[in-house]
Amino acid sequence: MSYHPPSRTRSSNFSGLKLRLIIAAAIVLFSIVSYLAKGQINPVTGEKQRVDDSVSEEIMMGIQAAPQMGQPSRDRQAAAQVREVGARLVNRLDQRLREKRIENPYPFDFHLLADRNTVNAFALPGGQVFITEALFHHLEGHPGRIAGVLGHEIGHVLERHGSERMATGGFIKGLVSAAGVAGGSFETANMAAYAGNFLSMKYGRDAELESDRWGIELMMLAGYSPEHLLTVMDVLEKTSGGGGTPEFMSTHPRPANRREYIQSIIREKFPNGLPSGLH
Ligand SMILES: [Zn+2]
Repeated sequence: MSYHPPSRTRSSNFSGLKLRLIIAAAIVLFSIVSYLAKGQINPVTGEKQRVDDSVSEEIMMGIQAAPQMGQPSRDRQAAAQVREVGARLVNRLDQRLREKRIENPYPFDFHLLADRNTVNAFALPGGQVFITEALFHHLEGHPGRIAGVLGHEIGHVLERHGSERMATGGFIKGLVSAAGVAGGSFETANMAAYAGNFLSMKYGRDAELESDRWGIELMMLAGYSPEHLLTVMDVLEKTSGGGGTPEFMSTHPRPANRREYIQSIIREKFPNGLPSGLH
């Protein structure tokens, strides 16, 4: 093996590198300052959060975007059942919050979408909640299961996950572009984007579990057994074909892992078993 002296060609890039690092530092600083400036107190949980929009902006945007989420179902009876179970959950939520002298700011609305192929439920920031006919039919008209799905979505709204995600997304984008500038290569930017993506997925998984906790809480308040949420997990697992993507790479934790988490919350809340009289 022969010895090669270190190459000297890199030193000519030094001033370019220095400039890039200064720009990158400025981008990082700007991202951090604007992210920190976003602090708001969540009106329901009382936690400090980083979000861009006010609650009334969330509500307005949600109402505006709702008609674009898909064709409403023609099955009036099923749509009425979704609204009914949703209203029951919100009713008990409002009551519970008023006991704590908190006013629920969200005008919740529950929509059944005509989509018979996609097994899905989601919520827009501000209280517009959706469930597809495909998922609804898998729940077999069981109010407790419907409550599990809707309760979870109500949790996303109350925790302001959508708005929080948008604010975090902007922050991560700032860091990714800074890394791209500093590294000066496509590969660095790519790696940074990958890391950013990974961070937001981690955020997504935590948000899912937080919403499952709300789901259980609301089901209990409305008199539904939280165990129906476990049946919902079975449905999700069955319809996702066992889950081909590794768990750490998907925004939603595998239903099997959520199942474990749900069971641990139930055990934590009711160490001596579930109370009787739930339906
Ligand atoms: Zn979710």
